[in-house]
Amino acid sequence: MPDLLARDRARTVIVGAGIVGVAAAYHLSDLGESDVVVLEQGPLFETGGSTSHAPGIIFQTNPSRTMCRIAQDSVALYDALQLDGERVWYGVGGLEVATTPERMQELKRRQGFARSWGIEGTELLTPAEAAERSPLLDPSTILGAYWVPTDGAGKGVRIVEALARAASERGVTFEGGVTVTGFDVRDGRVHAVETDRGRVECERVLCCAGIWGPSVAALVGVPVPLVAVQHQLVWTEPIPELASLEGDTWAQHPVVRHQDLSLYMRQRDDHYGVGNYRHEPLVTAQADIRRPGDGMQPSLMPFTPEHFDLAEAETARMFPALAGTMRPSDPTRSLNGMFSFTPDAGSIVGESAAVRGFWLCEAVWVTHAAGMARQVAEWITEGEPSYDLAEADANRFYPFQTSPAYVRARGEQQYREVYDIVHPLQQPSSPRDIRLTPFHERQRALGAEFFTGAGWERPQWYEVNRELVGGVTHEWARRSGWAARGWSPIVGAEHVATRARVGVFDITPFGKFDIDGPDALPFLERVFANRIDRPVGSIVYTAALTHRGGIRLDLTIARKGEELFRLVTGGGSGQHDVAWLRRQLREGERVRITERTGSLFALGLWGPRARDVLMAVTDVDLSNDAFPYMTARYLSIGEVSPVWAQRISYAGELGWELYGQFAMGARAWDLLLEAGREHGIVAAGGGAFDSLRLEKGYRLWGQDIDTERDPLSAGLGFAVRWDKDFQGKQALEAVRDRGPAQRLACLTFDDPRVVVMGKEPILHDGRLVSYVTSAAFGYTVRRGIAYGYLPVELAAEGTAVEVEYFGVRHAATVTNDPLWDPKGERLKA
Ligand code: FAD
Repeated sequence: MPDLLARDRARTVIVGAGIVGVAAAYHLSDLGESDVVVLEQGPLFETGGSTSHAPGIIFQTNPSRTMCRIAQDSVALYDALQLDGERVWYGVGGLEVATTPERMQELKRRQGFARSWGIEGTELLTPAEAAERSPLLDPSTILGAYWVPTDGAGKGVRIVEALARAASERGVTFEGGVTVTGFDVRDGRVHAVETDRGRVECERVLCCAGIWGPSVAALVGVPVPLVAVQHQLVWTEPIPELASLEGDTWAQHPVVRHQDLSLYMRQRDDHYGVGNYRHEPLVTAQADIRRPGDGMQPSLMPFTPEHFDLAEAETARMFPALAGTMRPSDPTRSLNGMFSFTPDAGSIVGESAAVRGFWLCEAVWVTHAAGMARQVAEWITEGEPSYDLAEADANRFYPFQTSPAYVRARGEQQYREVYDIVHPLQQPSSPRDIRLTPFHERQRALGAEFFTGAGWERPQWYEVNRELVGGVTHEWARRSGWAARGWSPIVGAEHVATRARVGVFDITPFGKFDIDGPDALPFLERVFANRIDRPVGSIVYTAALTHRGGIRLDLTIARKGEELFRLVTGGGSGQHDVAWLRRQLREGERVRITERTGSLFALGLWGPRARDVLMAVTDVDLSNDAFPYMTARYLSIGEVSPVWAQRISYAGELGWELYGQFAMGARAWDLLLEAGREHGIVAAGGGAFDSLRLEKGYRLWGQDIDTERDPLSAGLGFAVRWDKDFQGKQALEAVRDRGPAQRLACLTFDDPRVVVMGKEPILHDGRLVSYVTSAAFGYTVRRGIAYGYLPVELAAEGTAVEVEYFGVRHAATVTNDPLWDPKGERLKA
């Protein structure tokens, strides 16, 4: 009979004492939540999990603002830690080298991210300057490098021990050699953890089981979409050139990333570590991942030398001193170590929507461990993390995204792309055609260029419209380089045709759900900041706020009946929006939330001729008096009935959103296009949609607004009703009373040829003041448009700023928002 556990009760049980679980215990106890037990199947603290093998390298720069700040937070904590008087973090600097002109450009873009997200002191270096900092690097092999002075490497297991020691002092208990085998879940809530050494009663579980996460969470029926992929790491034989290093030799040279060949190198004492992602992904099935035992540590697999040939040759070319040292005689110095890859490369964090009290913090690198652990600890103790964590939200996945086939295919692709130059509009080649709207065949026939989002195939533009570009001599018809990727001048033609005549947009992927029941109205009034109690047939745009006043989601609500409401939100955010709304329900509240996304088609019919087109296929009076802006009702489109028509438009034009039974969508499409022919209708895609919305100043959740932005700073004060109670009101009142410090401002570029992509730094008087949240070309206003939060004193019309794009500063001017139809007359035409 194994020893019983030291404790049989704790408020929080953490599964896994890798760097993530221990950092979470550290932060929970730091926030006053010390009634925590950490259970670990392996020995403490070299558990045999991924943390035991990581070379501990941290490159903080990341296109994601959230992940970049989380990396900076991790570094700050690691840097402040000590274990037995010794440091555990070495901020030796990071060099990302370029061997192609394209990578050199990419490094400029990365420096832009770093500046936008607050990393200081970055530089672009010549080969000689890079070699000065990394003495074994042959400068003739590179074109240049990007330098981050605060990057570096940490001693993973020592960091864990230092964190655990601090947490223990605050009352946290750590137990090694205990395997979690099950959970006691009753009434949808966790009550206890079962282990091979007894049971621990608890209120919540935080699963930090790394690559074992899917198996642990499966014990409560919660899917964790990650795969364990093997990654190669070789610790070389001693290198004579390093014999003379003095002092603390654990890390003195900068860490180096050679992303063109998916490699990294770091000096450790008298040798180097060489990491290799340049091989076909080697996935280990969950069932084949071992538990700790006598043999090889369970997160390791036998080294596969054949996968290391290219890495060896390239490393020897770039670091000649390493030639001949990369096949060490000690077999433990060459390893295939496993860690987690998810379908979208994001972490998996938060409380499961399915089981209350079951929290996850999975697929987190050493780079992000401490920072992410702080976010999850805040989320647990304060109800919200301080950063917007949508991209890591455990509930963001649609069910198909947790299927083994999808998780594996996407996880492998993320491994392949880990160091690739990924354009923001780059589309995966597979898996595709997962969710098809009823218009798909017709769109294909029109030459749709499909982009994928939330599994849906969505036309970005249609080749059939190329003839509309013909003869156009505007600047916008020409683009080159980065901005030309994922773009066609047809986008501009579709935009212009929509403004001039009418466009039909496939908006089926929008998140659609119905909320009904006797308590539906009070529920919505409580959760949303705008007035929901309006006559049946009204539509309202509104945001739901966090208790800190941040925007948790924004959407439109149409009142279909006294107790029935239709909510429409973005396709990308639909899943976590609905999960969050379900979480707001109170015990006994008579409210039902029904997902309708996959059962309804949706079309946007927008443009000044939209009424003419719709009139031709329906008997309903569409006049302004009978069917005003922001109202909705049922109608028929030919035989397609019923169709729920909402008079609202993301294009900022007269028009309707039309929702009907999925199976009848194709018929509706045919009828509308046929009726629209004499009015010059075009099928228009996502590219035109984006630029139409930006000209109209519509905010996009996840870019312009998120939980870190409040409606007042975002210019959405019109959608807040102060005369009612709603979640987050108190915090918002405080913002109102002191006045927002920043405001979302609209910028236009002075040179009409300039187009940026988003996330670029914004400067004023040469000083960094913000970053671009959304950007597009405005084909009607004939200017590049960018939005960004500026200090209020700069957010006034006419302020001159600069936007830095690939290292070049472009002049831009703050302009009144929105650029298009500020009075909304076209919407109400
Ligand atoms: P782990 O360290 O694996 O911890 C999870 C723990 O859960 C394990 O100790 C396991 O034993 C325990 N557990 C699982 N199931 C149970 C159960 N049922 N009961 C009890 N306990 C259980 N990241 C970087 O940022 N920089 C790098 O340079 C880097 N290089 C890497 C190189 C290699 C070779 C590898 C393998 C990984 C590398 N990583 C790197 C990734 C990084 O190591 C991991 O992402 C990170 O360590 C994950 O930490 P974790 O705590 O989630 O997982």
